[in-house]
Amino acid sequence: MNAEWSEKNKRVQILLGKEATYKDGIELLLELRKDLFEQITQIVNGYPDQAFYQMPFAKAKGYHSKTLAYSVWHIFRIEDIVMHTLIAKDEQILVTGDYQKKIGAPIITTGNELQGPEIAEFSKKLNVKALSEYATEVMLSTNTFLTGLEYSQLKTGFSDANKERLIKSGCVSPDENAVWLIDYWCNKDVRGLIKMPFSRHWIMHVEAMQRIKNKLCQNARKGVDPVAYCGFSCNHCFLSEWCGSCRTEYNVCSFATLYEDRKCPNVVCCQEKKIDGCYECSELEGCTKGFYRPDNDGAAAAKAQAMFIRKYGKQAFLKVHDKLHERFDFTKTQEILGQDVSEGLKILEHEMNSGN
Ligand code: SF4
Ligand code: SF4
Repeated sequence: MNAEWSEKNKRVQILLGKEATYKDGIELLLELRKDLFEQITQIVNGYPDQAFYQMPFAKAKGYHSKTLAYSVWHIFRIEDIVMHTLIAKDEQILVTGDYQKKIGAPIITTGNELQGPEIAEFSKKLNVKALSEYATEVMLSTNTFLTGLEYSQLKTGFSDANKERLIKSGCVSPDENAVWLIDYWCNKDVRGLIKMPFSRHWIMHVEAMQRIKNKLCQNARKGVDPVAYCGFSCNHCFLSEWCGSCRTEYNVCSFATLYEDRKCPNVVCCQEKKIDGCYECSELEGCTKGFYRPDNDGAAAAKAQAMFIRKYGKQAFLKVHDKLHERFDFTKTQEILGQDVSEGLKILEHEMNSGN
């Protein structure tokens, strides 16, 4: 489990255990939920539609065997059901926001009953943007509840009438893979529910989502030119584990994501000019577009690398990077190359010609 989230969650549970520290516990819980929700938002905003119904670990056992869309649906259906039908005894956000229709979901359950290809089929039907809006509304609604929750209410338990209400709602499938949830939730008190559906459950599924999207990026990059349009080497980039490269739809280059359409201006410009990369452009030296903006930290290093590729080709470029990365990590390499464009080019040339 992600050490930082796991540690934070442990502290949350300890703080919630004593009245004197309870409010701090709630505050930290909201912070943890914010961190996790940011991950979900990045994924929802960063990847193409088809990423949400792929199952790169279909045969595995564990949460990562699902899809990205299913994971979001499942986390927030459970939270909505537990928060509203069980605890608050009011209408779920799915109903008040008319989200089933907006999302295009054929079910209102948690999805636990779906298996293998059914998960992919289900995921394909979901409108990810609407799903993300639903997730946001559920998260905010629970946050409001948590903020107003008193320490004395943590021990509130649930009776058979609560079980009946859950069964009647039809939100938990009678399938053996799902029906156990009703007893599981109702045998807990509010504190127990905070411990699982409102925190740990998120951690486990968000981690699984990260594994899924990392694998999708790796798959997308297979056989794709590892040289980025701007002159970077995707093979050596520190983001390469989770970026599918600017030559695929799985591009989550941090520079590209600064733009609303998630398109790096250098990529757009090269595509308009119908060239392979900035290294083929006659304006390279004086260019100040996109990544080459003078105020961009990585501009000089990227340009030095693009100039090297223009002179010596991609194979020589990748070889030089292999050599440099035996001694320096990505950040250090870029720092060394980025002090000055012509100096950076000289360093690359020296490295190419050195016997190291
Ligand atoms: S951030 Fe840029 S250089 Fe790094 S992997 Fe993505 S596209 Fe390639
Ligand atoms: S003008 Fe600049 S951004 Fe466009 S292709 Fe040439 S070097 Fe790249």
